[in-house]
Amino acid sequence: MKLKYLGTAAYEGVPALFCRCGVCTKSRLAGGRNVRSRQQALLDGALLFDYNADTVSHAQRYGLDLHGVRDCLITHSHCDHLYPDDVEIAAKPYSHEHPPIRFYAAEDGYKKLLPFVKKEDSNASAMRVEAGKKFITTGGFYVLPLPADHDASTSPVVYAVEKDGKRMLYAHDTGMFPEETFAGLAAFGTLDLISFDCTGCLGFGGAWRQGHMSLQTVKEVFTRLCALGAADGHTVKVLSHFSHNGGQTYDEMRAIAEQEGYLVAYDGMEVTF
Ligand SMILES: [Zn+2]
Ligand SMILES: [Zn+2]
Ligand SMILES: [Zn+2]
Repeated sequence: MKLKYLGTAAYEGVPALFCRCGVCTKSRLAGGRNVRSRQQALLDGALLFDYNADTVSHAQRYGLDLHGVRDCLITHSHCDHLYPDDVEIAAKPYSHEHPPIRFYAAEDGYKKLLPFVKKEDSNASAMRVEAGKKFITTGGFYVLPLPADHDASTSPVVYAVEKDGKRMLYAHDTGMFPEETFAGLAAFGTLDLISFDCTGCLGFGGAWRQGHMSLQTVKEVFTRLCALGAADGHTVKVLSHFSHNGGQTYDEMRAIAEQEGYLVAYDGMEVTF
């Protein structure tokens, strides 16, 4: 499988639009991997994770036409993960000869998608997913949504995905995993890759246990997953969805995270596993 990170920031982006904090100022000056758009990823050129307002610029930036994308998994309804107004771009007047695309979301995201997929010329459909209930996407990916620890009004889930014997977990946005999620992952099979929420960056001086995580809390979650057999030494560990509030730029995080065995995602990064 190949996972391509299209965007790796939390809602406000890095640097954030109006911010002159240390992280934003350093990131603006250094450029390159320090500059991040909002979180989104593409698996095997076919399965999209999240659909935010940066999607058009991501496709342009990486030269993607997204024609091969049949399915899009929505983690929750915060606008840096779901911007439903842009679902209409898949409709005939805007995208000619595109096969239908299906969006999968739990309750609140599903409700937000409905008015757009119901439009007369829509080329998109929406499926309501439920934590704990496995399903197969149009493109043949086996998907298990599990509860996330995040703003409950957004119906948050993380997604475990399997195809051709390979397994990955996309865990944005979430704090320390709920017990039900640990149990679900223990039964899912050993993961080949985990994309961890790391809004709090290295996590120095902050707890980052609820709603989001940092490297410190991610390490606790990973230890537990190993004890359950859901991960092991071969599992590729990626950190993503960073905020300036975490306190470090990409350049400041990389060496420290790599020493701990974690990849620090950057916009455009590809991981094959
Ligand atoms: Zn987010
Ligand atoms: Zn800032
Ligand atoms: Zn969120």
